[in-house]
Amino acid sequence: MSIYVTKPYLPPLEEYEQYVSQIFSNGILTNEGPLVKELEKKLSDFLEVQNFRYVTNGTIALQLAIKALGIEDGEIVTTPFSYVATTTSILWEHCTPVFVDIEPDNFTIDVNKIEAAITPKTKAIMPVHVFGYACDVDKIQEIADKYGLKVIYDGAHAFGAKYKGKSLLSYGDITACSFHATKLFHTIEGGACICKDQNIAKKLALMMQFGHYADDYSCVGINGKQDEFNAAMGLANLVHLPEIIAKRKYLCELYDSLLLGIVQRPKVQADAVYNYAYYPAVFKSEEELLKVFDALAKEGIHPRRYFYPSLNMLSYLKETQSCPISEDISKRIACLPLYVGLRDEEIIKICKIIVDII
Ligand SMILES: *Cc1c(COP(=O)(O)O)cnc(C)c1O
Repeated sequence: MSIYVTKPYLPPLEEYEQYVSQIFSNGILTNEGPLVKELEKKLSDFLEVQNFRYVTNGTIALQLAIKALGIEDGEIVTTPFSYVATTTSILWEHCTPVFVDIEPDNFTIDVNKIEAAITPKTKAIMPVHVFGYACDVDKIQEIADKYGLKVIYDGAHAFGAKYKGKSLLSYGDITACSFHATKLFHTIEGGACICKDQNIAKKLALMMQFGHYADDYSCVGINGKQDEFNAAMGLANLVHLPEIIAKRKYLCELYDSLLLGIVQRPKVQADAVYNYAYYPAVFKSEEELLKVFDALAKEGIHPRRYFYPSLNMLSYLKETQSCPISEDISKRIACLPLYVGLRDEEIIKICKIIVDII
């Protein structure tokens, strides 16, 4: 059987069915149903965050964040090392992404290069806690305050991660999360916005339901509402989260013990608690990475090139900006398979193939 980079976690079927039978007895499928409300409450408690809005997916969460903060044009300073949705959500909202290169240690935006990218057109900074590694949130806030900018975090990888004793998702004006099936915590499809300011949270709540409450139409909105079945999956998954993270930690440590000195690994910051969302490994060259991929593919094992290409290289951008560190790392990095059902023997086999090739 093939091994892919990830495999969605599925809770015991009876646990999901219990929630589904509630849906069948109350007949409510969507529009702020009881399970959506219950999940919002439980996630806010679990993460110890306020102003939590559960939405259809992480991309809509990013777009709603831009909209709710009143950003209609201008430049958004962002990272080139992420999933493409970070950049496309900026473009979709008629803004221009301005890329700032990354830290070679943990692949997050290099805060020492942000100020040089700020112009009179800059409206916001959109960094990513990529793979669950914390950005330098204090420095980013300091720069945002100095220049009067908003901060929107793409927190799609940061669920369960902490920084300085708080959820990593609690920083910035808004953090957008993704609960897609491939993420650490999922609701099949899903996402959320976590807002610092209660008024912004209210505006977002209005915008995600077409911009109206009953007969009161007050702004242009979109449909970002989540349904009861996805909430049911979230509720069934959430109770298993501590064991999910513990298992992933165990698997990451097994990889670490077998790949020590073979691949380069990112560094977890001193004040951070990592969530084991991914197992990124940096090879010495793209050639080495491709050889490893070939050898693994012969055994039906498929890691993924996360993230490649570096987003500043996207063909549909109006101008090319250079980010040498991100471009270099993008060519040499891959995420190795990591999911709850992955067996020790499988990791041992993967690592043996990698070690033999290198
Ligand atoms: C998955 C992901 C998204 C998009 O989330 P969806 O829920 O799939 O829309 C955005 N940014 C990053 C970094 C992601 O990994």
